[in-house]
Amino acid sequence: MKKHKIKKITAICVCICVTVFAVIIAADFLSAAGEYKGSTTLMNTVVSVDIRGKDAKQVGADVVSQIGKLENASLSRFSAASSVSKINAGAGTFCQADSLVISLIGRCEELFEKSGGAFSPLLGGVSDLWGFGTQTAAVPADDKLNMALTAAKDGKTEVVSNTVKIPGGTVLDFGAVGKGVACDEARDVLKKSDVKRAVISVGGSILLYGEGQSFSVGVRNPLGSSNDCIGTLSLGETCVSTSGSYERKFTQNGKTYHHILNPETGYPVDNDLLSVTVVCDDGFLSDALSTACFVLGYEKSLSLLEEYGAQALFVFENKNIRMTDGLVESFELSKADFTILNGDV
Ligand code: ADP
Ligand code: MG
Repeated sequence: MKKHKIKKITAICVCICVTVFAVIIAADFLSAAGEYKGSTTLMNTVVSVDIRGKDAKQVGADVVSQIGKLENASLSRFSAASSVSKINAGAGTFCQADSLVISLIGRCEELFEKSGGAFSPLLGGVSDLWGFGTQTAAVPADDKLNMALTAAKDGKTEVVSNTVKIPGGTVLDFGAVGKGVACDEARDVLKKSDVKRAVISVGGSILLYGEGQSFSVGVRNPLGSSNDCIGTLSLGETCVSTSGSYERKFTQNGKTYHHILNPETGYPVDNDLLSVTVVCDDGFLSDALSTACFVLGYEKSLSLLEEYGAQALFVFENKNIRMTDGLVESFELSKADFTILNGDV
C-alpha cells in the first residue's frame, strides 16, 4: 500500500518535471512579438533560430517543425520511418524514397565524381564501426573496416524513378549534408513568410536570410572552446558551413581520431587542416563542400570551389589561415597567434 503511494508520488513528480521542462522550452521560443529567438535539439545537434519580422514566432515554430520533419521523414538513420533508414534496411534491393532523398542522392553522386571520390555518402557503415559520438568509440578491427570500405568503394547507387538501391553492405549517410539541407528547408519556409531577417543555425551550418541584410559570423577557433573565435566574416544573405576535426572525436593510445573519413583508407583524414568553412548560397553545397574540401586539402579544393562558385576559409594545424579571394575583404582576424596567408601556395 505504502509502496503503491510512493510509486504514485514518483509518477506525479515525473509529470511535473516534464511539464516544467516543456514550459521552459516553450517560453524560450515565445519571445516578444516580431522577434523569435530560441534553440532546441534536432538532427543530433543544436538548432537555433533568430527571426525578426511579421509573425516571427509562428514562422520560427514552422522552421523548427520543418527541420524536424526533414529529419524524421527523410534523413534520419535512427528513425525507422525515414527514407534513409528504409534504404539502409533494404541495402542491395530497390526501396521507395521521397523525392527530396532521391534528389540528394543525385547531388551527392555528382559531388562524389567531382571530388574524385573524396566525398562519399556511402561511408555510414565505416563511420558506425568507429562509433564516433558514442560511448564505445574505438579504432575498428582491420577485417571489419576493410569489408565496409570495399563495399562502399566498389558499389554504385542506382535510382529508378522513386526507388533507390544502395550496394549491399553499405550504409547511406547524409551526415555531411543534412545540416545544410536543413538550412535550405528553413529558407523555403522563410520565403513564404513576410520575415525580413533571420539567422538559422543547425550545428555547423548557418543560414543568413534577408535581402540587403548584413551579418557577422564568427569563425570558431578549432583549438579553443565552442564560443572561442579566430575572427569574423561579414556577409550578406548566404549559407556558411564548417567542418572541423574538433567535432566528434576520441583518443585511443594517445592518438586522436575524428569523424571526417578518408574514403580511400576508412581512417580519419590526416592532413594539415583543422577546419574548413565554406560560404555559398546553397545550404546543401556549403555543407557538402566543407566536408569534401576537408578531405581534399587546400590545393585540391580550389578548382572544386571555383566550379561551384563557393568561397572557403581554411585553418591549418600550424595556425595559418588561407582563404579564397572572395573572402579576403570579408574576414577580420581577431587572434594574434593566427596568420593569414594569401596568394601563392
Ligand atoms: P558535422 O557533422 O560535424 O557538421 P560534416 O558536415 O563535415 O560535419 O560531416 C561529417 C559527417 O559526414 C561525418 O560525421 C559522417 O557522417 C560523414 N562523413 C565522414 N566522412 C565523409 C566523407 N569523406 N564523405 C562524405 N561524408 C562523410
Ligand atoms: Mg559537411
